[in-house]
Amino acid sequence: MSEVLTTEIAVIGGGVSGLASAFRLASEGREILVIDPDLDAGGTSFGSAGTIADYAVMPVGTPALLRNLPSLLLSRDSPLSIRKAALFSLAPWMARFAWHSLPGNCRRNADRIARMLSEVPTGWANLLMEIGAEDLMRNRGCLYLYSTRSAFDRAGGEIAVRNHFQVPQELLSQEETAALEPALPPFEGGSVYFPNASHLSDPGALMGRLKAATESKGVAFLHAAARALERTSDGVMVSCGSSKVRAKTVVIAAGAHSKVLARQAGDRVPLDTERGYHVEFDMDTPPLSRPVCPTANGFYLIPMAGRLRAAGTVELGGLTAPPSAKRLTFLEERARAVFPSLGAPDRTWLGFRPSMPDSVPVIRASKGGNDIIFAFGHGHLGLTLAPVTARMVSDLIAKRKGVA
Ligand SMILES: Cc1cc2nc3c(=O)[nH]c(=O)nc-3n(C[C@H](O)[C@H](O)[C@H](O)COP(=O)(O)OP(=O)(O)OC[C@H]3O[C@@H](n4cnc5c(N)ncnc54)[C@H](O)[C@@H]3O)c2cc1C
Repeated sequence: MSEVLTTEIAVIGGGVSGLASAFRLASEGREILVIDPDLDAGGTSFGSAGTIADYAVMPVGTPALLRNLPSLLLSRDSPLSIRKAALFSLAPWMARFAWHSLPGNCRRNADRIARMLSEVPTGWANLLMEIGAEDLMRNRGCLYLYSTRSAFDRAGGEIAVRNHFQVPQELLSQEETAALEPALPPFEGGSVYFPNASHLSDPGALMGRLKAATESKGVAFLHAAARALERTSDGVMVSCGSSKVRAKTVVIAAGAHSKVLARQAGDRVPLDTERGYHVEFDMDTPPLSRPVCPTANGFYLIPMAGRLRAAGTVELGGLTAPPSAKRLTFLEERARAVFPSLGAPDRTWLGFRPSMPDSVPVIRASKGGNDIIFAFGHGHLGLTLAPVTARMVSDLIAKRKGVA
C-alpha cells in the first residue's frame, strides 16, 4: 500500500515558477506541498543568465527571425541549432512557431508579454524583500551590443516595438558603450542600453533563499517525481512512485516536463524545449559590471559572484539527448572572442527552457476545471516573470479577477 499524503494545494515542480507560487500561496495562508525529485537543484533558473529582463517584450518568433530561419539553422556559426534526430518530432512545434512569427501574431504575442512584464519591477522588489534576498540583485542595467552599423540598423524594428511599449532604452554610440564597459572591445554598431534591467549575482543562491523562505512559511516538500494525475470524487490524486498525494488543487509547474502532466489533466499543450547552455570562468573580479549580449551570437556575458558566466544560445532537440560539445565550444569561443584572455571554462551546464511556439507562458486553469492550474511555458523569461506567475496562480486559485 502506498502512503497517501493530503494537502490543500500540491505544486508539481520546485523551480522558480513553482517555488514563487508556493511562497505566495503560503503567505496567503494556504496549505502547500511542493513535489519535485530534484528540490535543491534550483531548476533551470540555477544556470540561467540571471537577468530580470523587463525590456524583453519581443517574442522569440518574429518576422525577421522567420526570414533568417533557414540560414540560422544551416550555418555552423549560428546561435540557433537543431538536432537532426529530433527534426520529425519537432515539426509540429516548428510549424506553430512559424505561424506565430507572422507580423500580426508577433504583435499580439508582444502585447501579451509586455502586459506581464509591466508587473515585473514591483513584483521583484516585493519578492526580494519578502524572502530577504535584496543583496543578490544588481541594478545596473543591461546592454545589447552590435558589431556593425548595419546590424544596429536591422534592430530598428525591435527598437520601435519597445518604444511602442514604453520600455526605457537608450541608443548608445561605440564611445558611450565603452564609457559604461571599458573592458569591452569596440562594438562599432554601438549598443542599446536598458537602464531599468537588473541581474542576479548568483541565481543558484536566489533559488536557495526562495526555497528557505518557502519552507519557513510552512510549505512541505516531497522529494519525488509526479508520474500521474487523476481527478477523483474528493480531489486530484497525484501518483509519485511509492507515495500518493491527494489535493484539492494541483498546480503544474514542472517547466519543460509539464506537457505529459497537462495531457493527463485533459489538455494538449504544444510545449517543447529550447535547450540552452552556460560556461563559467572563475575569477575574483569579472571584467564587466552588467550583463552584455553580443546580439549576433545570441548569448549573454554576465558578471556573477566569483565568476564570469556566458549563457544562452538555442538548441532545438528535446529533453533526453546529452549536452552537445559543439554548442559548448560555440559559447566558449564566442566568449573568448570578446575577452581573449579567458582560459578554459571551469564548468559547463545544459538547461531546458520550457518553450511555447508563441513565447507566451501558459498560466490558466486546465480545460477540465479550476482544480488543476497550469504555470509553465515561460521560455526565455521564467526567472523574470516568477513574481507575476505567482500572482496569477494565486488569483486563479482564489478566483480573483486580474489574470493577464
Ligand atoms: C541558458 C539559459 C539562460 C536563461 N536566462 C534567463 C534570464 O536571464 N532571465 C530569465 O528570466 N529567464 C532565463 N532563462 C529561462 C528560465 O531559466 C526558465 O524560463 C525558468 O527557469 C523556468 O522556470 P520553471 O520553474 O517554470 O521551470 P524549471 O526551472 O525548469 O523547473 C521545473 C522543476 O520541475 C521539476 N520537475 C520536472 N518534472 C517533474 C515531475 N514529473 N514531478 C515533479 N517535479 C518535476 C524539475 O526538477 C524542476 O525543478 C534562461 C534559460 C536558459 C536555459
